Amino acid sequence: MEKTGQKSVDQDADSIHKKRDAIWPLVLFYIHLNILGVYGIYVLFASATWPTILFTSVLTLFGTLGVTVGVHRLWAHRTFTASKPLKVFLMLCQTTAGQGSIYSVVQAHRLHHAKFQQNEDPYYSKHSFMYAQVRGGLLRYSPQQEELLKEIDMSDLESDAIVMFQKKFYVLLYIFVNILLSVNTPFQYFGDSLSASMFVGFWLRSLIVINLGNLVNSSHFIWSLHKGFKPADSNSIFLITKSYWPQFHYLLPRDYQSGEFGSYATGIGSAMIRVFAALDWAKDLKTYGSVAVRQGLTKAVETGRPIVECIEEEVGLEENALPANHFLNREKFM
Ligand SMILES: [Zn+2]
Repeated sequence: MEKTGQKSVDQDADSIHKKRDAIWPLVLFYIHLNILGVYGIYVLFASATWPTILFTSVLTLFGTLGVTVGVHRLWAHRTFTASKPLKVFLMLCQTTAGQGSIYSVVQAHRLHHAKFQQNEDPYYSKHSFMYAQVRGGLLRYSPQQEELLKEIDMSDLESDAIVMFQKKFYVLLYIFVNILLSVNTPFQYFGDSLSASMFVGFWLRSLIVINLGNLVNSSHFIWSLHKGFKPADSNSIFLITKSYWPQFHYLLPRDYQSGEFGSYATGIGSAMIRVFAALDWAKDLKTYGSVAVRQGLTKAVETGRPIVECIEEEVGLEENALPANHFLNREKFM
């Protein structure tokens, strides 16, 4: 009897340890975001002027680049190094995405990689697309996840003055860069109505960028090619190209060409990194050549050592042989 009682006490303690509560202000914001953002689509067609539409499109693109090129490829996975002006630009772009500070997003993403498809994954990828895309981001971390987060190495970001500046002044930056810039500019300089400035400039743009940003953690549900998948199972094949690139990213995340949305080398993120590199703002672009991957796989089979370790080793050897401007070589990056 006592033993059973002890067992249920242990179970209670365990479930408290793993329990995640909703962040209610964030839930409320999310509800508003969806309603007002959808209303923004109506305002966009009904009354917004062209300068507002153009300006908002550029801000939407900047916000997306802040998340994909900035937070994901530069800060979370270190796939290249950036000059200070480029870092400041990407930090400001990321602020317009309204996802939280670079530091907090990177920390969560690193835990997502470390515990991918396990219960401790903050986006609980195994569960469902909606959990990864929406719910996971609206819940507080469980005490267990808080402990795991402390183990995530964030020393590189802690020694990055631009990331730490944004973390310290995030609320102020958010108000100026994300709200005032996007709403005030169409209203004051383009003579647009307050309704168009707010619903298109802020709410609709935020709806698009936040959803694209969340896809970084959930896109593998959409673009991943799963074992046993048959094209005939789904009509999505007409709209979405499925590939193994999402799996590649979770296995070998330090490749600047891995697109967040299932592509490799062809997306706008990869193109922009190449442009930044050609301008000398980005350096040390990391990529995995097919030859190195093949040799790594052969080595893993021959030696019985872990696949990732063997590929990393071969990539290290290949890197030394790669010319510094390999990103300009079409043969190399395609
Ligand atoms: Zn990643």
